[in-house]
Amino acid sequence: MSNRWNISEWLEQEIRVRDVACVYCGVAFTTPPVNRKSAASWEHIINDAKFITRENIALCRVGCNASNG
Ligand SMILES: [Zn+2]
Repeated sequence: MSNRWNISEWLEQEIRVRDVACVYCGVAFTTPPVNRKSAASWEHIINDAKFITRENIALCRVGCNASNG
């Protein structure tokens, strides 16, 4: 998973520990992902990349990410 949002490493680790499942559908992430749509991706709660805080970013499956179609 690429980190294109400049999320700091400590925050990324914190979110990965917190969000073990998709924030939308609750399906747990697996390593490796079952398929591309099951891979974890970053989701901004407020869709503004300026807000890189633990409250505004979460992990969801690629298939559930609004910005992936
Ligand atoms: Zn989901």
